[in-house]
Amino acid sequence: MTPNTPNEDLSPIREAVRALCAGFPGEYWRALDRERAYPEEFVAALTKAGFLAALIPEEFGGSGLPMSAAVAIMEEIQASGCNGAACHAQMYTMGTVLRHGSAEQKARYLPRIARGELRLQAFGVTEPSSGTDTLGLRTTAVRDGDHYVINGQKIWTSRAEHSDLMLLLARTTPREQAKKRTAGLSVFLIDMRAVEGKGLTIRPIRTMMNHATTEVFFENMRVPADNLIGVEGEGFRYILSGMNAERILIAAECIGDAKWFIGKAAAYAGERVVFGRPIGQNQGVQFPIARAYINMRAAELMVREAAALYEAGKDCGAEANMAKHLAAEASWAAADMCVQTHGGFGFAEEFDIERKFRETRLYTVAPISTNLILSYIAEHVLGLPRSY
Ligand SMILES: Cc1cc2nc3c(=O)[nH]c(=O)nc-3n(C[C@H](O)[C@H](O)[C@H](O)COP(=O)(O)OP(=O)(O)OC[C@H]3O[C@@H](n4cnc5c(N)ncnc54)[C@H](O)[C@@H]3O)c2cc1C
Repeated sequence: MTPNTPNEDLSPIREAVRALCAGFPGEYWRALDRERAYPEEFVAALTKAGFLAALIPEEFGGSGLPMSAAVAIMEEIQASGCNGAACHAQMYTMGTVLRHGSAEQKARYLPRIARGELRLQAFGVTEPSSGTDTLGLRTTAVRDGDHYVINGQKIWTSRAEHSDLMLLLARTTPREQAKKRTAGLSVFLIDMRAVEGKGLTIRPIRTMMNHATTEVFFENMRVPADNLIGVEGEGFRYILSGMNAERILIAAECIGDAKWFIGKAAAYAGERVVFGRPIGQNQGVQFPIARAYINMRAAELMVREAAALYEAGKDCGAEANMAKHLAAEASWAAADMCVQTHGGFGFAEEFDIERKFRETRLYTVAPISTNLILSYIAEHVLGLPRSY
């Protein structure tokens, strides 16, 4: 049983996603998890069905759906026990090109991304030395005629081995020469196929879950100057403008995860008999499940609020951050509860709980960690002094 949310008009899309996901059961994910292999068939099926092109406008060959529909898609993937982290960035990374790219760049890339001929799901922002302090990044892009020469390193560039294109943030003006704190960074849309082995090296990082993340090295990597998105030096603003969509969609994934854990726990608590009665008859077992449900529903309301503001073109920075925070906390708490409800079986691979437990753990850290969300709310909503 998956606890559904009543009164929605997105049920056809939800049902379609669920039907697709039914073809990718726990055994499929377990086998990939053991090998840390990429869910190629799953991503191909989602692409073919058009789900990953939900947010691309129809004029560029996408489905032109609103954010609430994209939220429903990502949530259902997770609630079905699948893992959208393999391809969620294909949905939102293109937003930077859509909002800030030239007419020529949009015409060249978006229809092919919409058709799935090109994957744009690598997003190179984080670096080993600067971490969360994005303005401290050290990768440089220096103009040389009709090219830029890029040097530096990124870390945690997920899906780089399974993406044709990478959206890259690099410094084009030295920090001390930039006109303001946030200036001097630029965004590039890199065709990785053209430069791999010619200045670009990708090395996988094995993590506690199957996430296809990597570290990426740039050594005198020459890219055409028309890879620049928008105006040189304005890249930080462009990246920030895409982060609300990312946060809302990842929050939706956490809601889906929480629903999956709650559904599993409620079902098991109802059928597992110990001391002659279902364990779920004990308040000590049923209350944590009820609490997880309440927390999930509260987080879900904030995800909807953020998505509604996003759709209305209004500022949703605070709501997107709060949605991501509440949903990530709710999914992690539900994961912990689900293990506890299952007792020893919570640790058994064949129940999928330990896999989903590892997968959902990520989201209080990435794409933005809890403390940074709290700092954002303290500073931008509550007017408290900036703490860093
Ligand atoms: C599996 C995985 C996939 C990822 N995918 C991508 C990707 O595709 N592209 C990409 O660019 N990045 C990606 N990331 C990076 C991710 O966004 C960062 O890990 C995350 O933002 C935290 O940054 P950090 O790891 O550098 O931690 P740090 O910045 O080193 O921080 C470490 C801890 O200190 C806390 N902290 C730091 N500064 C402060 C402060 N001033 N006040 C209070 N607390 C503070 C943080 O909250 C955190 O808990 C991924 C990470 C992982 C693990």
